Amino acid sequence: MLALYGLTALQCSNTVATWSGALHPEDTERTTAELNAAIAGDGHLELEFRIVWRDGTVKHIRAIGLVMWDQQGQAARILGVNIDITERKKSEAKLLAALEKEKEVSDLKSRFVSMASHEFRTPLTTIMSTAETLIQYRAKMNDAQMDQRLGKIITQVNYMKEMMEDILHLARLQAGKSLDFKPLPTDLNALCLEVIEEFYSEARHQDRIHYRSDPPPVMAVIDGRLMHQVVSNLVANALKYSTQTVSLELEKEETNIILTIRDHGIGIPENDLKHLFEPFHRAENVGAREGTGLGLSIAKQAVETHGGKITVESEVNKGSVFTIFIPLPTNEVLVP
Ligand code: ADP
Repeated sequence: MLALYGLTALQCSNTVATWSGALHPEDTERTTAELNAAIAGDGHLELEFRIVWRDGTVKHIRAIGLVMWDQQGQAARILGVNIDITERKKSEAKLLAALEKEKEVSDLKSRFVSMASHEFRTPLTTIMSTAETLIQYRAKMNDAQMDQRLGKIITQVNYMKEMMEDILHLARLQAGKSLDFKPLPTDLNALCLEVIEEFYSEARHQDRIHYRSDPPPVMAVIDGRLMHQVVSNLVANALKYSTQTVSLELEKEETNIILTIRDHGIGIPENDLKHLFEPFHRAENVGAREGTGLGLSIAKQAVETHGGKITVESEVNKGSVFTIFIPLPTNEVLVP
C-alpha cells in the first residue's frame, strides 16, 4: 500500500487520514459517497478513484474491500486490496481517443458522400445532357448556339475543378503542409477592395457590399493569396445566404486586426452552429443554394495558420456575423 501511495512508513501514521488526504480533489466527493453507501449497505465495496502523490504524480486505483463490523454492528475496519490501474486507464483513454477519431472520420465520410452525391451529380448531369444535345442537334445549330452550350459545359467543369481544388487545399492545410504559406506585410484594406471589385464585376452583386475601413493602410503580416480566399469566401456566403446589402468592416485594434462580415439573411440554426467549421457541413436551412460546406473549414484553417481565429454569431431569419481576428506582430515590422 505504501508503494502504491508513494509513501514511506513514517509518512503514514493514520491509514484513513492518509487515504482521504491522497484522494484526487475531483474524486473525493463521489468516492466518499460510494464508500459510505457500502458501509450503509451490504459492506461490499468496489471503487475506482485517483490519488495524488506528494510529488504531484496522479495514479488510478481500484479498491475492492469488505467492511468488518464490531459486535455492536458498527463498521470498524475495511479489509481489502488496492490495485494500481493507471496503465489500464491510460490504455482506455487512448482507445477512447482512437474511437472518437474513428467516429469523426466516419462522420466526415458520410458528409462527403452526401455532398458529393449532390454537388457532383448536378454538374455532371448538366454536362451530359448538354453534350448529348450538341451531338444530336449539331447539324441544326448555328455557331452561337453551339458556343453557348460549350460555354455551359466549361462552366460546369470549372465548378467541379474548383470543388476538387478546395478539397485538396483543405487537406493540405489540415495536414499543416501548406508549403506555399508566405506571410508578408500586406495592406488588408487594399485586399478587401480587391475582393469587392471582383464581386462587382458580376452585375448581380453590384452595390450589394457596404464597406468601411479604419484609415488605410491597415497593415498585417499575412499570406495575401490565402487571406484573399478567406475574405472572398465569407463575402460570397453573405451574398449567397441573404438578399439585402451585406457589410464588410475592417478595424485595427491594439493587438488585432478585426474583419467583420455581416448579413441580414437566412441565419444559421443553433444546432448547425457548432458544426459549421467542419468540412462538408451545411446547415439544414440552405434550401436549393449551391455549396459544398468546404469554404468555412478552409477559412478556419487559413485563419488559424495565421495565428488568428474566426467566430460566428447568427440567428435564423435575422442574419449572421462572421468575425476574423488576425493578431498583429508585437514588434513593428509593418512599414507600408
Ligand atoms: P457552402 O456555402 O459551400 O455550403 P461553407 O463552408 O462556406 O460552405 O459554409 C458552410 C455552411 O454554413 C453553409 O452551407 C451554410 O449552411 C452556412 N453558412 C455559411 N455562411 C452563412 C451565412 N452568411 N448565412 C447563413 N448560413 C451560412
